[in-house]
Parts: sequence; structure tokens; C-alpha cells
Amino acid sequence: MKLLIDSLIAKVDQSWKSMHAVCGLRTCQNTLIMRSVPESRVGIRMGKLWYCSIDCFANAARARFSALSVARTAEMPHSPRLSIGLVMLSKGYLSNEQLRSAVAQSQLSGEELEVVLLQLGLASEWQLAAARAVQWGYPVLGRDRISQSVDADIPVTLLRTFSAVPLHYSATAKRLLLGFVHRVENSLLHSVEQITGCTAEPCFITPTEFREQMERLTTAPNYTEVVVEDALTPAQTAKAVGGFALEIRAREASFASCRNYAWMRLSGKRRTMDVLFQGRNTEVERKNETFLASGQHIRYLR
Ligand SMILES: [Zn+2]
Repeated sequence: MKLLIDSLIAKVDQSWKSMHAVCGLRTCQNTLIMRSVPESRVGIRMGKLWYCSIDCFANAARARFSALSVARTAEMPHSPRLSIGLVMLSKGYLSNEQLRSAVAQSQLSGEELEVVLLQLGLASEWQLAAARAVQWGYPVLGRDRISQSVDADIPVTLLRTFSAVPLHYSATAKRLLLGFVHRVENSLLHSVEQITGCTAEPCFITPTEFREQMERLTTAPNYTEVVVEDALTPAQTAKAVGGFALEIRAREASFASCRNYAWMRLSGKRRTMDVLFQGRNTEVERKNETFLASGQHIRYLR
């Protein structure tokens, strides 16, 4: 008899599950009815999981953030094998003599070789971009191809941090061409792919092209970017996430990590919000800081 009841319960449970989504949070406090309402009505979807309420979603997000911060510490920076000077030499942009004097000057002044080469008029920005492209094994963008404004739903904070800018963005073709100035930041490419679902392809551009294209960049309609600069405790993170999700009536969420940022995208019926939780500054970022224009960071007030 006991067996019969058990199998009956299992059957009912199964048909219930096939008709209704069950909250993805294992510790969900809501009653069975509350956490199993038809998923089309309420709740937030994150990948394959669905959460019955903002509270459950925020708690799950908190766990996701701590997993990301652990993964971030294990990341190894990638450096090209050939120095920029050797590439410039091999491409015939510099003579041995010119390279030697530029290297000596760079050691004397403590400035980067590339800066010295530009100051001495020994190299153009485009030659340096072409040399970086060789270093990294990616193409350099032809001048004629940058002239279109791009509607971007990618956080400007990330673009400025890694000196990268969208040159071409096709939502229908699911393809994004990103121009980098200093180095190709793989974590940016990966996170953009995870969040937007587009294939992100890198190429190299000059600092001038970067600035010009950043000016052409327009914010996609109904898109908001928020940067949380404070280091939050897990409880504060959950509270902040819950607040943002409520604000835009989020129905979907996705996560990615990009160097020392945790990037969360919340999508509601009418609005999309990207929230960046900032970690500690890394070496790369300090190097790129000269490229940071006046930030439009919003501080999260506790
Ligand atoms: Zn729940």
C-alpha cells in the first residue's frame, strides 16, 4: 500500500513539474504553490533555471557572484611572444639604428617604447597598430572600414577599461567586431559572447580611431548601465541585485565575468540593465587608466 501511494505521489509530482516551473533555488522558502506557478506569469529566468521570486533570484545571484570571484583569481594574463620593437623591425618600419636609439631613450625616460617611437616621429599610430596585430595574430582594421555609428548595448565602462570599441554590430547576424588598441582582452570577448549571444571578433585599431569611434557610439534604446564600485558583502550584493531586478521588472538574467568585473544583465519587458560589480584594480587596468575618460559611474549607496 505504501508503495502504491509513493508511486502515485511521484506521478502527480511529475505531471505538476511538466506543467509548472519549479524554483531553481534549492532553499526556496516559498510554499509549493507559490514556487510552482506557471513560469509565464512571474519570476526570473537565468540560463536553464527559473526563480519564483526576486528574493530567490537575488540569493542565487549572490552564490553566482562568489563563484565568479573565485574563478577570476585563477586567470592568467596572456602576453605576446614577440616584442613590439622586434615586430616593427621585421616589418621594415624601423631600422636597427632607430630601434636601438628608441630603446635607449625609453630606458632613460622610463616611458614605453611605443610612446617614445611616436614622440620621436619614428613610427605612426597605424604602424604600431599593425605591429600589435602581428604580435597578437589578429587583423588590423583598414581605415575605410570605420565610419559607422554603432548602437551598443555593451557597458562603456568595460570598453574604456580595455580600450575596445564596437566597430560593427549586427544583432541579426549575431556578429560583433571589436577594435582593440593595446591588447586583445579575451575575458571581454568571452563575456560579450555570453551576455549578447553574438560572436565577438577582435581586430586592432589606433588610439585616434578608438577615440573617434567612441564618440560615434550611441546607447541602445531602453538600455541602462550601472557600475557598483563599492566592495559589497554577499548580503549587500543580494540586496542590490534584488533592487535592480525590481526596478526594471526583470524577467531574464545572465552573468559573465570580465577580468575584475562581474557583469550581470537584467532584461525586462521594456528595459535592459547591465550591472557591473567592480573588484580590485588589476595590472592591465592601471596600465590603461590613461585612456579612461571622465567616468559616468553610478555609486551604489548603501
Ligand atoms: Zn523560489
